[in-house]
Amino acid sequence: MRIAILDGYVDEPTCLGVPPYISPYPRYLAGAAWSIDRDADVRYITIDDLRRGNVTIRELDVFDIIAVIAGMAVPGRYLSTYPAHPKEIRKYLEKVNRPVKILCGPAGRFGFGVAGGVKPREVRDVFDFVVKGDGEIFLKEFLKGGDADPDATREDYTEIREFAIRGAGIVKQHPNYPDYIIAEIETYRGCPRSITGGCSFCIEPLKGLPVFREVKDIVAEISSLYRHGIRHFRIGNQPCIFSYRAIDTGREEFPKPSPDEIERLFRGIRNVAPDIKTLHVDNANPGVIARYPDECKRIAKIIIKYHTPGDVAAFGVESADPKVIRENNLKAYPEDVIKAVSIINEVGSKRGYNGLPEFLPGLNFVFGLKGESKETFVRDLDLLKEILDRGLMIRRINLRQVIPLPGTRMYEVGNRIMKRHMELFKRFKRMVREKIDREMLRRVVPEGTIMRDVYTEIHIGKITFARQLGSYPILVGIPGKIELGKFMDVKITDHGYRSVTALPYPIKINSVPVETLKAIPGIGEKRALRIIMNRPIRNEDELFRILDDADVTRKFLEMGVSFG
Ligand code: SF4
Repeated sequence: MRIAILDGYVDEPTCLGVPPYISPYPRYLAGAAWSIDRDADVRYITIDDLRRGNVTIRELDVFDIIAVIAGMAVPGRYLSTYPAHPKEIRKYLEKVNRPVKILCGPAGRFGFGVAGGVKPREVRDVFDFVVKGDGEIFLKEFLKGGDADPDATREDYTEIREFAIRGAGIVKQHPNYPDYIIAEIETYRGCPRSITGGCSFCIEPLKGLPVFREVKDIVAEISSLYRHGIRHFRIGNQPCIFSYRAIDTGREEFPKPSPDEIERLFRGIRNVAPDIKTLHVDNANPGVIARYPDECKRIAKIIIKYHTPGDVAAFGVESADPKVIRENNLKAYPEDVIKAVSIINEVGSKRGYNGLPEFLPGLNFVFGLKGESKETFVRDLDLLKEILDRGLMIRRINLRQVIPLPGTRMYEVGNRIMKRHMELFKRFKRMVREKIDREMLRRVVPEGTIMRDVYTEIHIGKITFARQLGSYPILVGIPGKIELGKFMDVKITDHGYRSVTALPYPIKINSVPVETLKAIPGIGEKRALRIIMNRPIRNEDELFRILDDADVTRKFLEMGVSFG
């Protein structure tokens, strides 16, 4: 049996699978295939393989099955790749005839969420099966030769225990393997707030009340991934990490968090993955943190004890306008958000070994919701200003427009409000960038901060863009074309709205590009050329002589210079 898993990359509110992330979808699918047929030839192919011509349509035609994973339910910002567009899926797959073609992931379940929702039927005719349920359950039944139901979902996590463990081996086929890859890990799905219908735009309540994975199952999966060489993990596939195995889930809209369960989880992970390089989390419900400050403070401390610095709890704030909050049944009022931001800051703002604060909140806003008016934008900005004025830190502010997905209450409303407020939204976005973002970045990574292990990912013009691995990495622009695909340390020199400028640390004076030298404060074009002409420079004395200005040379040396 030859099975191709074609990863078109997913970006959902609770799950990221755009490189360097690998989502659970391909891993579970591979696990399902190997659980039924341990000798199955399972190939992991990415949409980039097709875009770049690394895999041709003719090569796809030799498979028996192609399972495509795709769907973007939140529009993100990407650096060197991006999720598959439905037109791409059509272009590549409509000429593939031999294999059985199966569409899985959010695109199968909800359609493609590009630009406000292109319905799945746009590509439906290309596929033999569009799976609205869980792809791995469908694939298992299909391979067994039974009557596979595309709508079938797993009842609980025991069904995929083996899949998660066996499927971990697929990571070895990822183009970024082994260094620049981070595994997104699932802990539960469903939302406790589905009792009251949940937030109007969210698909999570459609999955019902939370069904939690057992600690031992998560740990076993991580152990398997670790044995296969993965060193970077994000416990990101859940609506709220603080609510993992919360007490009274199913009875309370905001169940009481359980620090003991979180401790069991993170301790277990560290036990099986001692040399982990990244351990981050993602989503958190500010309403939970505000309601249970003591428990959540304990949880934040536990996370910090086991994680790696630069971690982010992304809060679903959505709106600071009480009218919008009421009409969309959102989870937190502005005072709750301030309280939750303060709690995480109190515990997590200390700087860690990789240069970033240990654990900070991020804030997500959604626009185009019911009840939105001009006043909404004023209130949102007021909330951000207050956070700034109180001296608090947030790692990122994510402003997005709603994608009205089928099954949610916003589906009936559609894009109407969003379209009406398009200009307001754009203006608001600009204001946040100018008035809040840069100042926040200055707090989070002040000038002179040394950021460890940024990975050089892409050249744009004469700038190299790099990022650390982890939750919401800060984009670093390094002047000059530095070799790509390397981890390096950098020192921050300046701040943009959403990125920082940095120089390599230390600066390898005998090999660094001229553009990098030119960007060093006080050096400029002429001195940079003088350095180039006089290479190799062996020591500080030679540098003093070449640069002819003692002050400039001293400042340059303070940046950290290596003569090797
Ligand atoms: S609290 Fe709201 S946004 Fe979060 S998972 Fe539940 S319904 Fe979705």
